[in-house]
Amino acid sequence: NNGYMGFVKSGLPALSPSHSENRWSDTSSYSGKKKLQYWCQLPNGNWALGKIVSTSGTESIISLNEGEVLKVNAESLLPANPDILDGVDNLMQLSYLHEPSVLYNLQYRYNQDMIYTKAGPVLVAINPFKKVPLYGNDYIEAYRRKSTDSPHVYAITDTAIREMTRDEVNQSIIISGESGAGKTETAKIAMQYLAALGGGSGIENEILKTNPILEAFGNAKTSRNDNSSRFGKLIEIHFSETGKISGAKIQTFLLEKSRVVQCADGERSYHIFYQLCAGATPALKEKLNLKHANDYNYLRLSNCYTIAGVDDAERFRMVMEALDIVHVNKKDQESVFAMLTAVLWLGNISFAVVDNENHVEPVADEGLDTVAKLIGCEVQELNLALSTRNMKVGNDNIVQKLSLSQAVDTRDALAKSLYACLFEWLVDQINKSLEVGKRRTGRSISILDIYGFESFDKNSFEQFCINYANERLQQHFNRHLFKLEQEEYINDGIDWAKVDFEDNQDCLNLFEKKPLGLLSLLDEESTFPNGTDVTLANKLKQHLSSNSCFRGDRGKAFSVSHYAGEVTYETSGFLEKNRDLLHLDSIQLLSSCKCQLPQIFASSMLKQSEKQVVGPLYRSGGADSQKLSVATKFKGQLFQLMQRLENTTPHFIRCIKPNSLQRPGTYEQGLVLQQLRCCGVLEVVRISRSGFPTRVTHQKFARRYGFLLLESVASQDPLSVSVAILHQFNILPEMYQVGYTKLFFRTGQIGVLEDTRNHTL
Ligand code: ADP
Ligand code: MG
Repeated sequence: NNGYMGFVKSGLPALSPSHSENRWSDTSSYSGKKKLQYWCQLPNGNWALGKIVSTSGTESIISLNEGEVLKVNAESLLPANPDILDGVDNLMQLSYLHEPSVLYNLQYRYNQDMIYTKAGPVLVAINPFKKVPLYGNDYIEAYRRKSTDSPHVYAITDTAIREMTRDEVNQSIIISGESGAGKTETAKIAMQYLAALGGGSGIENEILKTNPILEAFGNAKTSRNDNSSRFGKLIEIHFSETGKISGAKIQTFLLEKSRVVQCADGERSYHIFYQLCAGATPALKEKLNLKHANDYNYLRLSNCYTIAGVDDAERFRMVMEALDIVHVNKKDQESVFAMLTAVLWLGNISFAVVDNENHVEPVADEGLDTVAKLIGCEVQELNLALSTRNMKVGNDNIVQKLSLSQAVDTRDALAKSLYACLFEWLVDQINKSLEVGKRRTGRSISILDIYGFESFDKNSFEQFCINYANERLQQHFNRHLFKLEQEEYINDGIDWAKVDFEDNQDCLNLFEKKPLGLLSLLDEESTFPNGTDVTLANKLKQHLSSNSCFRGDRGKAFSVSHYAGEVTYETSGFLEKNRDLLHLDSIQLLSSCKCQLPQIFASSMLKQSEKQVVGPLYRSGGADSQKLSVATKFKGQLFQLMQRLENTTPHFIRCIKPNSLQRPGTYEQGLVLQQLRCCGVLEVVRISRSGFPTRVTHQKFARRYGFLLLESVASQDPLSVSVAILHQFNILPEMYQVGYTKLFFRTGQIGVLEDTRNHTL
């Protein structure tokens, strides 16, 4: 099902370019003066402007402005907008609305550092990849005083604040886009605007300082973005009744913990590791036995230690300062650094075969000693936890010795868990510091910055989860901008032409259906002791091949048709990442440690999910452990998130990456177009342009403007009063529709009424 099919009723501008409402086409003076230009698609997919030289039959000769002359199919040419419309700040204003005109308009603005453009109610932000002079106090002040109305994150944030106060409804700012498109920067810009409202007692500064901390621990250099967020974040900023910031709460999603123990060539692990190695004082280094980044196996894997233009040592000082500000005391900070160092040293622990059955034990060296010291246990305890496993067979406890690969997995699992727990603990500390007072009377604005859609050459479990989350968010976007919009018109009985849009329910069903959906099948296979990447791939192919969004590929791969394109996933590692086992032995080790953090981590792991912890591997009752797989936990979080968002008025920002080189001044049409298509920008503009964005109930309208009536109305019912007002003010019939309960207006119609009202009052 592809959403709604379009049906166009009379009286409204239709949607295709040839019928579109066009203020220029009938102005003969215009077309007489200057020859109309057309967009012509070149073989490389780019669009170029030109003028038609001649047309015969279905073929046209077009002379491109760049010099070339081409023979093309006349129907493939799209009319260009008159240049008076170059660079309009809302795509709704374009006379001809089609892909090349939108692409051109955005590029025209981008070339002049106007990176923000509205697409109906949605803000489109194109990453400048350089400093642009659009931010800071003067700009904030200008948007606050409304002395400028050019599109901006500040303007969106200002609207959110106003609507929160006016409607007494919580708001959300939902930022989406590909990796590297500028989501995190945009979120920070919005936070900056909110923080400028003030709060007192420094709470706004505290909120801003959570950014460098979370980025240090949760961001890393990837092939797409030097500062890629490897977790999702929702920050809920609370306001008191007087409109001041009263506190905040951060929720994070699905930190990519595999990065701690492995990452691709040219990428890095989490920034904080390099920052710590570069920035720790000699005294701290000595105390923790901390070496250079390139002394650690986990960091050596990718052969990349620095980022151009980034001073890790300086960043480390900023992180420490930020930790001070969010009230993480020095002692705790040092514990955090000790845990980080322990993770690094864990990666240096190697194993040697100790018997003729190929069982291994850790080599007693600096690595083993240092880890034991940093987490506060005996070397022998660490040795046992990394080389043996306690199993229950019947009523007996037996001790199993580990093979090399088992021992390495156990070591890496411990490193990943330590890091993930540390991250969670830090977020907890930050939340305690930002805590909203007990009496939560005020309202909130939530900002969602969550990893965008990802499609690499090789896609694994992480991309699988990320793209699933993006499907959910896309549905939220669709629901709000299309369905709700259209339903409201239809329910109120007004004349309305539906707009086609891509519905992604089929793809979501592919993920979520029980028992035969991707997530259920993945969980089921994860509980089978003998399940492997191959059996998983086969199972998916066996059960899902009839689904139109699914395709089984060769070997261990399968493809999903996402709203943003097809992605091929390799099942290698899926089961292991989804199970995310940490053996009871490792948890017991942590809980017996003398240091505080490992103990806290151990108890939170035990508390979180008794069943996820596997003492004897795959103990009976496997069905229970399903519920706690990584994918299922994530799905739960996602549902919770969507529920929270449903109760807010959403404001959408779509970030666009103009090139894949992270370079300023480079605009790749194909890349931009693909992103515009993915996020439905064109459809949003269409719907907003032909729609009636302003709605008021008859009652409210009559109450608000009734007193302006010059002649009394025979009937005093709200509808009659409303209609009389409309007549008196000469609002043109095509500019409004009367619904059963509400009046619907096109953009800009209420202004004159408001002005008169303000002057009269
Ligand atoms: P995402 O979170 O979408 O992956 P980021 O927000 O981390 O992307 O942006 C990637 C990089 O792009 C940033 O590190 C920064 O260099 C640049 N960037 C993004 N937005 C802006 C902006 N508004 N002004 C200047 N540079 C920006
Ligand atoms: Mg980011």
